Amino acid sequence: LRERRERAATGPGRTADGYAVPLLANVGNAADARLAVEFGAEGVGLLRTEFLFLDRQTAPTIAEQTAHYREILAILGHRPVTIRTLDAGSDKPLPFLRLPVEPNPALGLRGIRLRDIDEGTLYEQLAAIASARAATGTPVKVMAPMVATVEEARRFAAAARGAGLSDCGIMIEVPAAATRAEFLGAEVDFFSIGTNDLSQYLFGADRMSSALAALHDPWQPALASTVAAVVAGSRADDIPVGVCGEAASHPEFACVLVGLGVSTLSMAPRSLPAVRAALSAVTLDQCRAAAVAVLTEATAAEAARAARAELRPAE
Ligand code: PEP
Ligand code: MG
Repeated sequence: LRERRERAATGPGRTADGYAVPLLANVGNAADARLAVEFGAEGVGLLRTEFLFLDRQTAPTIAEQTAHYREILAILGHRPVTIRTLDAGSDKPLPFLRLPVEPNPALGLRGIRLRDIDEGTLYEQLAAIASARAATGTPVKVMAPMVATVEEARRFAAAARGAGLSDCGIMIEVPAAATRAEFLGAEVDFFSIGTNDLSQYLFGADRMSSALAALHDPWQPALASTVAAVVAGSRADDIPVGVCGEAASHPEFACVLVGLGVSTLSMAPRSLPAVRAALSAVTLDQCRAAAVAVLTEATAAEAARAARAELRPAE
């Protein structure tokens, strides 16, 4: 019994009927990476690289970046790590980039858009990631934030593959990308849905505004509809869809995401045990029924109630 309990606390993510859902961690530095291992993460689904450089006044060199990534990859060992290229700007300003002052930074130059004013930073980062991977042997994927168009995805994939990083994906966190997932999927190897920004742009509600928290409720059915559209689009090229936004750390909503066809969930390390436990208590069919319930209810409150009824243990 103790062994079973321990496995449930740190083992791989799976539903009660054995459907595997790799549970991954979101990390920003080496301390987070250690926590990820401690909490039984099966890998890292989102390494936020901007946090390595938040207080830098000058651009990090390729060697400095390589050392940072190496340290984190070494902690994860054989576990796969998805590294996101710099998501600077808006809520993550980086002093060394000398970004222009904009009236609406969340709608301005951020994420992959910075490539237009500063291409070198992306190439240097990809080179550093490739060196760190070569040094540690840790399986590495790379992904770009804030991709909105096919051209952006295509240019990022070419840059990543040019650096020898053949497994490359994009975050889906702008509604335009969600509506064109079928076309974007032809360019890359995977999608990772960032529900924090996706909710922000879908609802036109600043993610930093606590007054608008109701619009960021994961039970808002428009969020599930958008995830469903991304999963449907991903089927054209049969590429996997993960979720790495806050919504993945909500134990019941995580089950709904699995029911919608999401194949991996990535979250803060400390959220892993609760999501692992919630998944292990339901079947894949229950997850699917809960997903249908959310898609067919009109309001967030009704969606939550209907999904919970589907996720209740069988009598
Ligand atoms: C997101 O937008 O959901 C996400 C995971 O990325 P970040 O929170 O770093 O913008
Ligand atoms: Mg984001």
